[in-house]
Amino acid sequence: MYLTNNKYREFSLHTRNNDIKNIDSKTFDVAIIGGGITGSGIANILSENSINAILIEKNDFASGTSSGSSKLIHGGLRYLSTGHIMLVRELIKERNYLLKNVNIVKKIKFDVLTGKSQWNKHEIKFGLFLYSMLENKFKMPEFSNGNYTENIGIDGYFTYEDAMTDDSTMVIYNIASAYNNGVLCFNYLELLDFKKDNDYSVLICFDKINKKYITIKARLIINCTGPWANRVNKVLKLPENSEMKLSKGIHIIFNKDYFNIKNALVFRSSIDKRQLFLIPRDHVCILGTTDKFIDNPDDFSINDNDIEYLINSTKKIFTFIDKKDIIASYSGIRPLIGKGSDPGKISRDFKIIDYGNIITVFGGKLTDYRVAARKALKIIKNRLKIDVKIRNMPYINYSRPDKDQVEFIISHECPVYVNDLLRRRLPVLIYDPGNAENFKKENIDKLSRLVSD
Ligand SMILES: Cc1cc2nc3c(=O)[nH]c(=O)nc-3n(C[C@H](O)[C@H](O)[C@H](O)COP(=O)(O)OP(=O)(O)OC[C@H]3O[C@@H](n4cnc5c(N)ncnc54)[C@H](O)[C@@H]3O)c2cc1C
Repeated sequence: MYLTNNKYREFSLHTRNNDIKNIDSKTFDVAIIGGGITGSGIANILSENSINAILIEKNDFASGTSSGSSKLIHGGLRYLSTGHIMLVRELIKERNYLLKNVNIVKKIKFDVLTGKSQWNKHEIKFGLFLYSMLENKFKMPEFSNGNYTENIGIDGYFTYEDAMTDDSTMVIYNIASAYNNGVLCFNYLELLDFKKDNDYSVLICFDKINKKYITIKARLIINCTGPWANRVNKVLKLPENSEMKLSKGIHIIFNKDYFNIKNALVFRSSIDKRQLFLIPRDHVCILGTTDKFIDNPDDFSINDNDIEYLINSTKKIFTFIDKKDIIASYSGIRPLIGKGSDPGKISRDFKIIDYGNIITVFGGKLTDYRVAARKALKIIKNRLKIDVKIRNMPYINYSRPDKDQVEFIISHECPVYVNDLLRRRLPVLIYDPGNAENFKKENIDKLSRLVSD
């Protein structure tokens, strides 16, 4: 047994292995497949409604797209230019809720560049005004012509405010909230097969930690497997959704002082004019991202061409940028739903398809996961014929203490491997990669309770 905090239930490798012994052949009202932001948000909203539910995730929580994003909680200024005004309005509303209520969501300032090689000054001014109107602020954006003006084709920048978080921590907070409210959540439990048994679906799963098959029965299944949604629908004997596409985005990481910028930067690639971000946070600066169709949801590889693209896209503004100075990198795969040959133009909105006793959530963003959870709950409510609370949900009823976080995380957030903690609980490997080895040494006793990778 580990140290526990009176406020929260223990949720650790130890409790995971105990809980799993009690679920074989047990019946649930809802089984959620996928422990990314979509599945964890739905688990959370179900837990707040005391619905008898279980969530299974084949690897660690947040090990899919939900740890590979740009980590922004934003309205998406770019989506205004593609005409997705209602989506931006909803995203801004969600951003403001999260900023007010969740302490891991913080404000961040962006400088958006204008000029011949960048965006048109008047268009950005109008776009930012519209952006502020969508949150009822009606604020005229301020223009500055300092800092970047020595560079060819840049005449200045507008500064605006959005928000950022850590995507995987947001997932873990939702999972921990759901677990504390009574929804069983398992990492390293993979759905492999499916059959029908009268009114129930029978899920045949594999517990990767104890190397055992487990059978779960559920009245309703919610497929929240992001890029794997079509693959999992095939296991569930459902048709493929031909509108679903996958697009990979990579990010590369430098030391924070490498660029010496105060605000995050939004600029256009000098190769193809796509929008890129350079985001200073903690000990690093994160540069991203790419947007390229791929076929395989397991393909998280980062190839040289993508790295060269980011470096060369940025070189006109930061002439010193060099591939050899990259200290870390990561990738994520966008589950997109829509038509078109340009991934950048496909909507970032989500779509929920109700197949009867199976519901699949396709697409979506980190920022609007609560909207997806509410919409899914409305369908669940009708299927289960129950009364539910939906308005303003889901909340996050969980937070870490300021001190002794490693100990606390091991006891309350169920990391199994050391890497689960280093990459998705306290993402040292992202925000302070140079210090990862020291961190491991300093915490060697605590980390010895986890399985080494
Ligand atoms: C490069 C990039 C940048 C982005 N930036 C932003 C941003 O700044 N802001 C924003 O709001 N959004 C952003 N997004 C979008 C956002 O990150 C994703 O839409 C979101 O994380 C998708 O979450 P999900 O839960 O649907 O999928 P995932 O996080 O991929 O979760 C699906 C889970 O299902 C699990 N799974 C698959 N098969 C099985 C099985 N058989 N059994 C059990 N589990 C299974 C997987 O292991 C995975 O963990 C970005 C996306 C990318 C790729």
